[in-house]
Amino acid sequence: MANYLAMNRDELTAEKAALEAEYKKFQAKGLKLNMARGKPGPHQMDLAMDLLKMNDYTTDAGTDARNYGELEGLQEARVLFADVFGVKPEEVFVGGNSSLQLMYNLVNIGYVFGFPESPCPWSQVEKRKFLCPVPGYDRHFAITEEFGFELVSVPMTPNGPDMDIVEKLVAEDPDIKGIWCVPQYSNPDGYTYSDETIERFAKMKTAAPDFKIFWDEAYIVHHLTDEIIETPVLLNESKKYGNENRVFMFTSTSKITFPGAGVSAIACSESSMKYICKRFSVMIISYDKMNQLRHVRFLKNKEGVLAHMAKHRRRLVPCFDAVKTAFKNNLIPCGDIAHWTDPKGGYFISLYVMPGCAKRVAGLCKDAGLTLTGAGSAYPYHKDPQDSHLRIAPTYPSLDEVETASELLCICVRLAVAEKLLA
Ligand code: PLP
Repeated sequence: MANYLAMNRDELTAEKAALEAEYKKFQAKGLKLNMARGKPGPHQMDLAMDLLKMNDYTTDAGTDARNYGELEGLQEARVLFADVFGVKPEEVFVGGNSSLQLMYNLVNIGYVFGFPESPCPWSQVEKRKFLCPVPGYDRHFAITEEFGFELVSVPMTPNGPDMDIVEKLVAEDPDIKGIWCVPQYSNPDGYTYSDETIERFAKMKTAAPDFKIFWDEAYIVHHLTDEIIETPVLLNESKKYGNENRVFMFTSTSKITFPGAGVSAIACSESSMKYICKRFSVMIISYDKMNQLRHVRFLKNKEGVLAHMAKHRRRLVPCFDAVKTAFKNNLIPCGDIAHWTDPKGGYFISLYVMPGCAKRVAGLCKDAGLTLTGAGSAYPYHKDPQDSHLRIAPTYPSLDEVETASELLCICVRLAVAEKLLA
């Protein structure tokens, strides 16, 4: 292996032929591997099975969790999520099994009715826009795309979205109604927003009085190192500037217990809480409080959550290490053809390949039995202007599978780059 950028045409042609031979060997194996979606593996979900053993559904207040009632969530569940978020229980709404659904519902409320500060419902804002830090989470972007927002890309940095750009855009344009953020261990780069970025979000001036920050703490306790990273809590910081109504924080236990059967939560100001409860109460009488109670009894408090996450970490770290080791051994010697993130938490690694190669890499992988998230899907409208980014999700496959998949992925990267350099 040598630096591709220093090779002459003959050397590159020989390298490409060698890679094609290796690639064919992988194809002959008939692999069926998937590093596309951030899902926990079966062993991680097994860790939470005791949760289902519970059969006493009397709450701390003596009510029956099996019945209707308590739309904003069981008190003990609000206390648990308040502990995780770092806010007050009165500021927490506990929902059903999906935080994404809560986000969708809030965008829907903004669209149909607006928020108390809205001059009009978002649907009546002809050129409505939403800021999308890129690369970001495709399902966030899909929600605002579905509601007819123009998706405005803002570049990510290791400290969070480029705040000079965010501040300028939101100060000037009242049609920008919000921003998607994954502040801790971002999807897909694994970056954590700096204290300064959080402060700037809390105090920035927005032209829209009803600007909302959708602050998705999906990975708030998903540490991959012994360092438990804690950042300032946006809702609390925003209060210092009277901006608490602009904040909706979200989380869920999807990647703590079960993605299909966990519990989700919102943290927001008490005044926003009143408003969303009024709207939600027309839609639903109450969420699944039996599941909320099971989760509280199983996880107990933030300490209990962190202890449980340490068990996940033991399984996940070798999978992340396998990907990074393969990249280091197989890509670094080839020169500056790719770079990648080294997340301290979360579910993903971002791989940036030579511009113009990402789609080809994903296609090569697919034809050899390895499914990756579609190239470009971390960008609005699935368009990566550089065609460079791939989101790698090493959590679901077994360690053996991650090792094989990473080897194959490296061959595909090198082959796509060799082809590009020869084109
Ligand atoms: N938010 C982010 C950033 C995610 O990565 C995911 C799932 O991958 C979700 C939300 C989905 O959350 P939930 O299962 O609570 O709907």
